[in-house]
Amino acid sequence: MTSRKKSDGRICTFCTKSSEMVANMISGPGKVCICNECVEICNQILKVEKKRPYKTTRGVHRPYPLKRLLTPREIKEQLDLYVVGQERTKRALSVAVNNHYKRIMNPVLDAQVEIEKSNILLIGPTGCGKTLLARTLAKILDVPFAIGDATTLTEAGYVGEDVENLLLKLLHETDFDVERAERGIVFIDEIDKISKTQNNPSITRDVSGEGVQQALLKMLEGTISNVPPQGGRKHPEQEYIQMDTRHILFICGGAFDGLENIIARRRGKKQMGFKLDAPAGVDMDEMELGDTLDMVEPEDLIEFGMIPEFVGRLPVQCVVRPLMHDQLVQVLTEPKNALIRQYKKLFEMENARLEFTPSALSEVARLALEKKTGARGLRQILENVMLDVMFDLPSRKEPREYAITDRHIRNGEPITFRLLKGMKDELEPEAKKEAS
Ligand code: ADP
Repeated sequence: MTSRKKSDGRICTFCTKSSEMVANMISGPGKVCICNECVEICNQILKVEKKRPYKTTRGVHRPYPLKRLLTPREIKEQLDLYVVGQERTKRALSVAVNNHYKRIMNPVLDAQVEIEKSNILLIGPTGCGKTLLARTLAKILDVPFAIGDATTLTEAGYVGEDVENLLLKLLHETDFDVERAERGIVFIDEIDKISKTQNNPSITRDVSGEGVQQALLKMLEGTISNVPPQGGRKHPEQEYIQMDTRHILFICGGAFDGLENIIARRRGKKQMGFKLDAPAGVDMDEMELGDTLDMVEPEDLIEFGMIPEFVGRLPVQCVVRPLMHDQLVQVLTEPKNALIRQYKKLFEMENARLEFTPSALSEVARLALEKKTGARGLRQILENVMLDVMFDLPSRKEPREYAITDRHIRNGEPITFRLLKGMKDELEPEAKKEAS
């Protein structure tokens, strides 16, 4: 049997339902009342208002959401915790990023002096930290971050993704908080793959090369983009979400294979061999590649196939150098989230200790150099070596120690362990140190 509520005579001022028709009725001054359903609707409206596109606030400068803008030195110090080497690039990025957010935080400055947007181009071989740098910057600054792949993009209207999809990724990151997304960082990978198609027969349009560069121009410079929310959350009222890209920092990255030859030719030097062809352990070619790329000029990028307007919209051009053997060893051990640290932590959780001898680390780095995939190869090599141990690790409870040497890496010797006494006690001071 359902019990009917008795009416107390109160009526919702908004929807005119009487109190027995709703769960709650809140009274205000005089005879004003509001029911729980209308409160709910008001809440929804406020939420949408809060996340409204920038256009509603255009002309009103909102302060940048950071409490305090970090100085270039502070940004660089933070980058050092995660990214090995790339000193010049880390400095250049710290300055560019500081300038970019300074511009956002000082609207008056923006109005009086036109400070150029500092979009960034990162040039360098794969696996040497381009994505890592961009991602770490976003983390340091606590701004939303999205990664897109230029190879998936096509000129609007053709099969493939429209460039606005990059912005949609930022919106997803911020759960459709448009204003926060408009202060984010977008990393566009493989930007060199949208160079103008060479030998393009004139009857076909270059929709995935030059066409995409053209499509990206406005977005990089700053425009109001119409982002289709398809695939994402449904957005009330609008078919498109409008996003202002003026304050979005775009970082583009690419390997630009062969760019070194263009640079060398311009400088009147003989062509150098294709990059990363050096035998393992010989760093000269990597050095030479890095040194040559360091001398890149916009005209080289244009000759490579980037259109001049596109190059012009990426005024900060930095080179990410190939990682040398010793730097790969550093990548294994030094960053906050270094692979070896992660493995050690996993072992600790299973009451075990893990050690790598210096020769083991050196051997992993040597093999990674051979693979020519930069630091990306390190994980794969280690995972292969550690697979069997990781498989058995949680099945044992006794305190034990695993020592990995170069023989385990090079010859695939099975990894054994030795039992330890009182391992827990030994581990404790370390754990305490970390906790403090
Ligand atoms: P890419 O230059 O191709 O964008 P990534 O930044 O994606 O390379 O690097 C791949 C992985 O290699 C990263 O996740 C990171 O762990 C490691 N790595 C690459 N370069 C560095 C570096 N300079 N310092 C520390 N780790 C690095």
